[in-house]
Amino acid sequence: MSRSSKATGLDTTTRIDVMARANNACERCWLSIVNQPGAIHHRRTRGMGGNRLSNYVENCVVLCEPCHTWVGANPNEAAATGWYVRQWDDPETVPLTNIYGHTFLLDGEGRVDL
Ligand SMILES: [Zn+2]
Repeated sequence: MSRSSKATGLDTTTRIDVMARANNACERCWLSIVNQPGAIHHRRTRGMGGNRLSNYVENCVVLCEPCHTWVGANPNEAAATGWYVRQWDDPETVPLTNIYGHTFLLDGEGRVDL
């Protein structure tokens, strides 16, 4: 009960791996979040028993606060550009497009530019 982990349920290793891959910057707009608020966003949300996959590194992206807000406010556009993944899709096979038009995949090892 005294643990201070946040509600994301991410373990420390996953968090470190995701932050290292992102180079401590938003993966959508590349804004550094070192001294900015940011979040680790689950592309495929937890819930509906989806817990097993939700904490894999390919399902987690680092977003700055404006991008995180954008994703929440524009779910259809976010899904079309890979920032949201439908429950029936595998995050590893869904490409992401950042605001500069670069498309990439996330796998268990890191980032694969397309
Ligand atoms: Zn951003």
